[in-house]
Amino acid sequence: MTNRQNVRRHFASDNYAGICPEAWAALEEANQGHTISYGDDPWTARAADLVREVFEMECEVFFVFNGTAANSLSLAALGQSYHSILCHEIAHVETDECGAPEFFSNGMKVLQVGGAAGKIDPAGIERMVKKRTDIHYPKPRAVSVTQATEVGTVYGVEELKAIWAKTKQFNLKLHMDGARFANAVAFLGVQPKEITWQVGVDVLCFGGTKNGAAVGDAVVFFNRELAHEFDYRCKQAGQLASKMRFLAAPWVGMLRQGVWLRHAAHANAMAQLLHQELRALPEVRILFPPQANSVFAELPPHVIVALRQAGWKFYTFIGQGGCRLMCAWDTREEDVRAFINDLKRLLVQAPTDLDPGPTDHRKPV
Ligand SMILES: *Cc1c(COP(=O)(O)O)cnc(C)c1O
Repeated sequence: MTNRQNVRRHFASDNYAGICPEAWAALEEANQGHTISYGDDPWTARAADLVREVFEMECEVFFVFNGTAANSLSLAALGQSYHSILCHEIAHVETDECGAPEFFSNGMKVLQVGGAAGKIDPAGIERMVKKRTDIHYPKPRAVSVTQATEVGTVYGVEELKAIWAKTKQFNLKLHMDGARFANAVAFLGVQPKEITWQVGVDVLCFGGTKNGAAVGDAVVFFNRELAHEFDYRCKQAGQLASKMRFLAAPWVGMLRQGVWLRHAAHANAMAQLLHQELRALPEVRILFPPQANSVFAELPPHVIVALRQAGWKFYTFIGQGGCRLMCAWDTREEDVRAFINDLKRLLVQAPTDLDPGPTDHRKPV
């Protein structure tokens, strides 16, 4: 038997990690006897209540299987098939959901907005809205922001307020893809309400999977009218779990006693440690300010190959040499040190093979 404690943690994705002990214990607790199906059970009610406590708000809460479903279905609920959604050009909804937002909304178009460090430039919203106002243009209806962003940066309260101002000006809804919302809250040290409904967010996709659950993200409607018939939308899309208690129970385990924030803060701290070690190396260039649980760094191509040969898994989808190093709730200091030690050793070794190999398939967020 392998000792699970000794298995190396990789830096490929926070969804490489397993289930955290608190989610696991709650699943075990929920696995007793029979209970009502399709979400009418006490676990689902408790999980939704805990979400409402976290946000200090009487929001509507739904649990779906994953983030793609949460994003697509919530975006679909914001408008009609002839509408468009504005998001950052590297947003998950644009680049990593296989067209699911367009599919589940029966054709809403996703339009891209630029901005530094993975964040939407508020002026870009105005440009996209004013670009065309004729009937031939898919009418902008919503803005989607990712918190934390795809490149590990975090929108501050003032940045969100600037986006909110534009959404108010142009009568747009505000959607937040919070696959790593916990990491953003842990970084900012704010109350969850301060970066959601208090800055105009209508609906949040609250990620649980990457923070320690096995499966199951929450859709949280602060604008409760938008939740009208959302249960039907979930059912039709195959996102209504019959044994819903097993999607909900991990949330109970993680939202109790601030476990979710503890895990996120730990993952962030591991990214900070990694950053501190990496920035000291002259051959390494940090690509974005690391604020959540990842570090993006440029490494010499032959070293990327050598690190992989040494068994490390991580993604390199930012051009040539741009590596994404992602920490999870269970990343240990010794994993960071082992990676850094290997990196230092390989940096001083003469390159034997200058071919960095094919860039790996993008993804995995
Ligand atoms: C992981 C992730 C999601 C959800 O992805 P699924 O694989 O569908 O769970 C959504 N948005 C962002 C930014 C992500 O990183």
